[in-house]
Amino acid sequence: MRTAEVKRRFLEHFEQRGHTVAASAPLPAEDPNLLFVNAGMVPFKPYLLGQVTPPYPRAASVQKCIRTLDIDEVGKTTRHGTFFQMNGNFSFGDYFKEEAIRLAWDLVTKAQDDGGYGLDAERIWATVYLDDDEAYGIWRDVIGLPEARIVRRGKADNFWSMGVPGPCGPCSELYYDRGPAYGREGGPEVDEDRYMEFWNLVFMQYERGEGSGKEDFPILGDLPARNIDTGMGLERMATLLQGVDNLYEIDETRPILDAAARLAGKRYGEHSGHSAAESHPDDVRLRVVADHVRTALMLIGDGVTPANEGRGYVLRRILRRAVRAMRLLGYEDPVLPELLPVARDVMAPSYPELAADFERISSYAYGEEEAFRGTLRQGSVILDQALDTAEDRLGAATAFQLHDTYGFPIDLTVEIAGERGLAVDVAGFRELMSEQRRRAKADAQAKKSGHADTGLFRAVLDESGPTDWLAYETLETDST
Ligand code: ATP
Ligand code: MG
Ligand code: MG
Ligand code: MG
Repeated sequence: MRTAEVKRRFLEHFEQRGHTVAASAPLPAEDPNLLFVNAGMVPFKPYLLGQVTPPYPRAASVQKCIRTLDIDEVGKTTRHGTFFQMNGNFSFGDYFKEEAIRLAWDLVTKAQDDGGYGLDAERIWATVYLDDDEAYGIWRDVIGLPEARIVRRGKADNFWSMGVPGPCGPCSELYYDRGPAYGREGGPEVDEDRYMEFWNLVFMQYERGEGSGKEDFPILGDLPARNIDTGMGLERMATLLQGVDNLYEIDETRPILDAAARLAGKRYGEHSGHSAAESHPDDVRLRVVADHVRTALMLIGDGVTPANEGRGYVLRRILRRAVRAMRLLGYEDPVLPELLPVARDVMAPSYPELAADFERISSYAYGEEEAFRGTLRQGSVILDQALDTAEDRLGAATAFQLHDTYGFPIDLTVEIAGERGLAVDVAGFRELMSEQRRRAKADAQAKKSGHADTGLFRAVLDESGPTDWLAYETLETDST
């Protein structure tokens, strides 16, 4: 079943059951605490938090998402994309646990001839929060799931909150056992690649107080209106229904992967098994390329452009990672002019605006690759020499010089050094950076003339240089 059809059936199922279908919000989040929408519930937050009266009691959507938190998993697990689509159904004070569980179960087990997904019910597992006896009982008594396939899990996996006082509640996740070729037996607690999570049902029913972080906080009481927030990974369901080994092999990414393999002269899959653990490094790289090229297309399509900070820096880093992965595969010519049109062709049927806007999108992407090729040309000579002579780690002075003179971001230096088994003195690098910043500030102070001078702000911005990738990770919390 094609991904577009998985999506269509989802929306049809919920629309027929009283849900209003809402369009996806753009990837850049309106929420100031979030760079990108990272879950289907994000655009519905004002309704879920009770700040705005919802115009409808139930909704369904297929939301474009970005999770930079998952970037290092891409290609290594079978199930994490930086860009993905989250299908969700929502109840704003309307139905609750039992109906949410039934709605999900019906869609996934209903025969394909009947408009469902036709998953084998015998292979489905469910998790519930430790003391959520209500959800446990629904799975066992209403759905008829054997107790052996209902697992109680703790707060880290099965309790949702936003990390601050406000609504919270237990969740229940659905997993599919893909069989022994994909990993070890024993359920989701043993192997989350063999047992692939495909749907998370969040039951917002309590109010939490202040506490420390996401797991340690008091429950103040019940919410006046209980909500449902669910997220089903569209690519994960497509993976299961297309009988492929991972997310990067479904119809919306495989053509990009194949084109990349052709360029690099590799035969994808030749040296890998089905499971994540049995992946050849070249295949992991091809998956990264396929994922990142698609992600870049979707980001630029939604108005993000390469920059040294914020969203633009995420895009820049993703484009650069794709280009570098191709280099590690032995391909040194420009990559994006070959692969971006392939990504457009697979995504445009669902997002026609990508085709209409492709000239703008591609000119940003190709321009960024050209600039990066220049950076690499200049910086690589210095970096290679330094790495050849470094003993156990690359010194701060070299990392600083690379940054200062050649525009080599520190994370790129760390990545390249890491590939050669070397660490980088990042703490020392930061020291040199703040010294430089202090000097620049002192200079600027000396020159300051007393009236508002945007040039000064400009200078500070330039001196701060590329912002840290990691700084953005802390802005993100998994919302569903
Ligand atoms: P996992 O444990 O596999 O990382 P998760 O628990 O972080 O997933 P949720 O936050 O519950 O995921 O998101 C809801 C659903 O969205 C998941 O059940 C999954 O189907 C899908 N999903 C989450 N992260 C990704 C991703 N990086 N790529 C593709 N699909 C994802
Ligand atoms: Mg996750
Ligand atoms: Mg999970
Ligand atoms: Mg989950």
